[in-house]
Amino acid sequence: MVDHPRNAEAFLANAERARWHDQALWFVRQKRDRAMHSVPEWEELRQAAEQIKAHTLEHLGHYLERFESQAQTNGIEVYWAEDAAEMREIVTRLLKEQGAKRVVKSKSMLTEECGLNPHLEAKGIEVTDTDLGERIVQLAKQPPSHIVLPAIHLRKEEVGRIFAEHLGTDPSETDPERLTRAARTHLRQKFLKADAAITGVNFALAEEGGIVVCTNEGNADLGTALPDLHIACMGLEKVIPSARELGVFTRLLARSATGQAVTAYTSHFLRPKEGGRLCVVIVDNGRSALLDKKAEALLSCIRCGACMNTCPVYRRSGGHSYQSVVPGPIGSALAGERDPGEYATLPFACTLCASCDAVCPVRIDLHDRLYEEREACVQVPAFAPKRRGLRIAAFFLARPKWRRAAVRGLGRALKYLPRRLIYNRFNTWGLDRELPRPAPKSFRELYEERQR
Ligand code: SF4
Repeated sequence: MVDHPRNAEAFLANAERARWHDQALWFVRQKRDRAMHSVPEWEELRQAAEQIKAHTLEHLGHYLERFESQAQTNGIEVYWAEDAAEMREIVTRLLKEQGAKRVVKSKSMLTEECGLNPHLEAKGIEVTDTDLGERIVQLAKQPPSHIVLPAIHLRKEEVGRIFAEHLGTDPSETDPERLTRAARTHLRQKFLKADAAITGVNFALAEEGGIVVCTNEGNADLGTALPDLHIACMGLEKVIPSARELGVFTRLLARSATGQAVTAYTSHFLRPKEGGRLCVVIVDNGRSALLDKKAEALLSCIRCGACMNTCPVYRRSGGHSYQSVVPGPIGSALAGERDPGEYATLPFACTLCASCDAVCPVRIDLHDRLYEEREACVQVPAFAPKRRGLRIAAFFLARPKWRRAAVRGLGRALKYLPRRLIYNRFNTWGLDRELPRPAPKSFRELYEERQR
């Protein structure tokens, strides 16, 4: 089972990193606030986005079939994958048909979720992540720690060392501009030699049969410009009715993600390039199981990352502490729905402050979801001691006389018991906290005295 408290403790052991991580993400959150205030109709946009997503999910089969038939009319090949294994198998087959040995890939959380990179590498296909943050974590052999800012946990000095090892830059180089230039030179060579490009999909337009990919670096466009094969992998929830609704989401996405007015590149792919192939792989991988459940709204997520930037737990525990592909509030909610046993600690990595709900551009009720998931999670065996403790508490709380006697007894015990008997490694609560000294008389005793 994922042990979020322990992982968070490890992250917090480096106090400087923890402080800097917190501040960096809060800076992005504040940028988002300023961008949001510049749009007077912000709340109307959020409402519209929520309604469009709810409507599309209600008619998901219809819109996916509409997308498929229109995309095929445009000359796009459409494939369906029920799970991660089928997705990997389809992508590998398409690459083999093309004889592709070198692939450039723009950011796609779905390919992370399906473990595509290690699978292709095991088949002898070189995969280069071309988003700068993704490339940094790929070279560092780490998973991304954030869905929009994958290398946010690394400082520029660490990036300098990673680049020195893999790109041959000066190990003392820490200037972000010069490091970015080195990455650009390195990636240009990868773009020029690529046999195929893989991208994610931000939105699929059912009416037009096209896909939309948003990046800030133009790497999806560069990657797909030269090779004859473009494979776009999308979760089935990415479909929206048509280009008419797209503006609602693009206005919300960039502002919520990084505080920009627009994503630098919003690229539309409506047909394959001349002589080339454009293949869209639509992946379920557990998504349809969320339909018709209270958790359905989780499929509305447009992966802006705003809930992570604002979450006090995420900012202070880092993305890797969640050990799930998508971290933070939305990641905890999704993981808790999929595997409550494995991810039982994640719904508790939340203060229920509801800050995530307040910033979410599609108004997902994240903190309510996490609260409800807690109820399911406490049934897993690891929570047995907590359940026993709560049963004892319930016994005393239902019997006021017993409760008063127990509190009195506990107060005395705390006074006379040797300290080491109370504060030891078995009492993890007491590791960072001190119980206040019990008052000589309880409130009730004082109250009764004064009444008399
Ligand atoms: S849940 Fe909302 S705030 Fe969080 S990543 Fe998804 S769309 Fe953004």
